[in-house]
This record gives sequence, structure tokens and C-alpha cells, in this order.
Amino acid sequence: MHKDTIHTILKDTFGYSSFRGRQEEIITDVLQGKDALVIMPTGGGKSICYQIPSLAKEGFGVVVSPLIALMDDQVTALKQMGVNAAALHSNSVDSQTVYADIDKGTLDVLYVSPEKILSMGFMDFLKEKEVALFAIDEAHCVSVWGNDFRPDYVKLSVLKEQFPQTPMLALTATADSTTQDDIIGQLKLNVQNKFISSFERENIKTIARSGLKRKEQIISFLRQHHDEAGIIYCLSRKSTEQLASSLKGRGFKAEAYHAGLDAALRRKVQTDFQNDDLQIVCATIAFGMGIDKPNIRWVVHYNMPKNIESYYQEIGRAGRDGHPSETLLFYSWGDYVNLKRFIDEGSAEKDFKIVQTAKLDRMWQFATAISCRTNVVLNYFGEYKDAACNHCDNCIHPPEVFDGTRYVQMILSAVIRTREAVGINVLIDILRGGFTQEIKHNQYNLIKTYGVGRDIPFLDWKHYVTQCINQGVLRIDFKDGSRLKTTPLSMPVLKEGKEIQLARFVPENRKKKAKITKLSIDTTDADSNLVATLREWRTDKARELGVPAYIVFNDKALLQIATLKPRSSAALLAVEGIGKVKLGKYGPAILAMVDESSA
Ligand code: ADP
Repeated sequence: MHKDTIHTILKDTFGYSSFRGRQEEIITDVLQGKDALVIMPTGGGKSICYQIPSLAKEGFGVVVSPLIALMDDQVTALKQMGVNAAALHSNSVDSQTVYADIDKGTLDVLYVSPEKILSMGFMDFLKEKEVALFAIDEAHCVSVWGNDFRPDYVKLSVLKEQFPQTPMLALTATADSTTQDDIIGQLKLNVQNKFISSFERENIKTIARSGLKRKEQIISFLRQHHDEAGIIYCLSRKSTEQLASSLKGRGFKAEAYHAGLDAALRRKVQTDFQNDDLQIVCATIAFGMGIDKPNIRWVVHYNMPKNIESYYQEIGRAGRDGHPSETLLFYSWGDYVNLKRFIDEGSAEKDFKIVQTAKLDRMWQFATAISCRTNVVLNYFGEYKDAACNHCDNCIHPPEVFDGTRYVQMILSAVIRTREAVGINVLIDILRGGFTQEIKHNQYNLIKTYGVGRDIPFLDWKHYVTQCINQGVLRIDFKDGSRLKTTPLSMPVLKEGKEIQLARFVPENRKKKAKITKLSIDTTDADSNLVATLREWRTDKARELGVPAYIVFNDKALLQIATLKPRSSAALLAVEGIGKVKLGKYGPAILAMVDESSA
């Protein structure tokens, strides 16, 4: 295979001028008949790794995917670029045409569900055809160690037995090293090279905040994300509905989504969101698998997720198009207590509960971290890194650290004098000299530390108590009504004055404006009138073709056009995402709009 060929396909068909990360190496390996394991974060560009070799080689590529909606989206997008792609699954229509195209040798890429490929006779049918490669998408589903095991997927091991000469790619966005080895074993891959990309998503800004007045905070966040699509994840079905209705009441285009809703309604919410007709989905985790919308600009967690895997997968739905996106996590002890209760009350084995609790603790440490958050996640996944990421809140606004020993002593002293019988809020009330029923009833106003911290606002105290817990000088006893207790590390601070550093609490409205996340192409000078014209045109075009707007052009391409203002076909080809087919279809209309905007 000529090296030029794959670059030509990349440019002419997909409209991109260079490969990302290790795409070229992977494609070259496949073209040489080798198997490959590809671990790349969501939005990293996995699909091109099997789409380009499918086009470059004789025959057609067979892609196994568990998600029907995703397959159909990919087929629609490929067809727009002039690639002959098709899907065969339980809901597919027009399968006769697909078989006819295979017979004629004109099909490039075939997506199939696991059930279809394993169904009677299908394997024999494939054997008589020229299969360029097999790609197993969401490959972690073959492993019981992964986070979405599917028994059907395990049977895919027959593929390698039946087609020992055909290269096979296994692709996934989530697999720790145990899962990676299991994928190789289960699928019987002959892998010389594991292609593992960094899990870092540089275009995603990560923010975590204490969950006080979440609704107000969300509304101010939404005002900064005017018209941009996003998801708000909630822990319960009820809260998705309450939040959606409250946002609707304030004029936002929001809907709830959870597994308890009628299937038709769920489909409608998903389609409207996908087509840019709905801005906000307030959802439980049921909303996610199968969402392949590239222009999700933000993800908010109304409640803290149960572990870092879930959290990272959920925020990973933002910014698949590589454009800057923002994610906001709210956390509170209430969330922790609820999640812990789910684990404790569940019917799982004791060992499993211990692992789940440890994972929950890591999530809490992430939420309350005062150092680079990206590093917490990368270290969690075994990709050790210590340089600052510059796209999380702690790197953008590094917390100011001070000698907090005196504050910690006040906290510990109050905990001891109340005989370890109070939770966080009452403790802070005592420190601040509040006179609540509980304080009156228990005569906490008579203890020595009553009112010693009245000059420090409630929120600041909450922040400091949390840091004490994270640093191990204090603990929360979940078995005893979430009361605060001392630990072996408490006494050295209280009695010997062992120094404790605390990060100063700076409320959101006192923080400096955040730096803008870096862009691959600077489109800050895009002509906003032209963007509006292009958007309107795109909406009409998408309606006419019956496809989601981003399939015509993604936001990034529109912004680039409105920045570069290309005046010729050649100049238009410089825009990422415009290949020859799209140029032929839409080039004249776009050039006319650019001309008009400059007139
Ligand atoms: P994944 O399957 O890994 O989540 P996709 O294959 O859907 O990611 O790719 C994410 C986005 O990145 C898509 O819009 C895709 O067209 C784009 N993309 C992939 N490769 C490149 C590249 N080399 N240059 C620019 N954009 C790319």
C-alpha cells in the first residue's frame, strides 16, 4: 500500500490534513495485516483507524458495535462524505441493498451488531466475500473486568478462529491494564503493539465545587453557556424531573431523561438533543451510551458520581469535536452518604463492597482535591503524570495555601468538647457562635470553643473541615450518623502544634476570570454574522436531508470558515472536516455566503 494513499483518503474523504496521535501507525499496521489493540479516549478519533483501511484495502471492513444508534449515526456521516457504508442489525431496513452492494463489490464499510454477526449462516456468508478487516468497537464489553460486560461479545472469539488471516482491531475508550490483557486473550488477537493514547482531554476544562445552592450555581453557569448543548447528570429520576421543570420555568430548553420514562418520550428527547432542537438534558446515567453528539459543550454533575470511571466517562461526552468544553462537578457529604448507603445496602459480596467503597473514596478525594485534577484522574488510570494540566480549576486558579494549624485546632477542640457527637453543620454553628435549637438543647454554647471562629464565614469553615478530613486529622463516622470523630493524627496537631497547611477558600465570584482553554485553531476572531448565516443555512440543509446538523458540518468547521473566510475551493479545503465530496456538495453555497458577508 502506498503511503500517500492513506493521506489522500484522509484529506479527500474526511477533509483532515494530518493524522492525530498514533492513527497513522495503527492504520499502517492494519494494512500490513496486523492485529491491533487501540485504547483512545472518547473523541480521540478511533473510527478513522478502521474506516481508512476499509477504504484503502480491497473488499469491505466489518465493524462490530453494540450500539445501534451509534452505528446508524456513523453510517449517515460516512454517506455524507461519499463513503458507501451500511449497517445490519435488528432494526435495519433495506438489507437487500446492502447484500446487493456486497455482491457488486461496492460496499466500503459494514457495521453489524454482535447478534447479527453471530447469527446462523452469516459467518459462512462473510467467508465467501472479501473482508478487509474486523473492527470490534467497545471492545471492553468482552471482559468481565471491564465496566460493561456483555456475554454475547465473548462469542466473538470465533472470528479469529474462522478468519485467521484477516486483521482485527479491538477499540475502546475504557480499559485498565487487566481489561486490556483480557481483551487480547478473549478475542485471540496477535498483538505486537498496544496503542494506548493518553486519557487526557485537553479541550475539557474540569471544575469541581461544593454543592451549596446548586440550582443558583447551575443557572449562572447556563447563562455563560447560552444556547450551547449540555447534559446535567442527577442521581435520582425525581431530581432530573424537578430540575428540568425548574429550568423550563426559567425559560431554558430542558427535558428530563431516565429509564422510567416511556420509550417513545425517551427517543424523542434523545433525537431532539441530537438534532440541536433541545439544549439541555437533565438525566440519570441511563442517558449516555449511544450519545454520539460531537458538539456537547458542557456536562454538569448535579450529584457526585460513584467512582472516577463513571465520572470520566460522563464528562467525556463533552467536546468530542475537540472544541473547548467545560465540566462542572458538584459534591457534598450528602452525596457521599447516599452513595455509601447504596453500596452498604446492596446485595453484593463483602469484597465487592470494599472495592466500591474504596472507589467512592477516590472520587471524593478527586472532588475535594486542591492540586491538579487531571493528574488525579490520570494517576488513577495508571498513566503517571505530575506536570500541571492547565485546564482544571486548580491549575487555572491555584489555591492559596496558608498555615491553618490554629483553625484545625479550633475544629478538633470543638469535636472533642462535644464528645464527638455532632456533624459538620452543627460543629460550624458552634464555632461561629450560632444559637440553634440543637446548640441550646445540648448546651453547646457553654463549651470553651463556642464562637471562637465567628469571623470566618460558614462556607469557608466547611471548606476547612473537608480539608481536615482529606488530610486525615478528622474523620466522618458514617455508621454513627455522619458525626465527626478524631483520628490518630488529631492529637499531634492539637497537643504538639503539628503544622497543617490549608488551602484558602475563594468563592466563585471572587475568582479571577478563567483563562480560555487552548484551541487547535484560533477562531476567536470568527465573523459572528457569518457564523449566524452559516448556522441558519446548516439547519435548513440538515432538515432537507433529514440528518442532524453536525453531520452537514460541525461547529468547528463553521467557525473556521467564518475565521478564514475562504474565497476559493482550494482555500475551503483547508478547513478541517471539508473533503472533496463535501466541497462538491456545499462548496458553491458556502463560497457565496462568504462573498456576501464580505461585500
Ligand atoms: P472516538 O470514536 O474515538 O470517540 P471519533 O472517531 O468519533 O472518536 O472522532 C472524534 C472526532 O474527531 C470526529 O469528529 C472525527 O471526525 C475527528 N477526527 C478524527 N481524526 C481526526 C484527524 N486526524 N484530524 C481532525 N479530526 C479528526
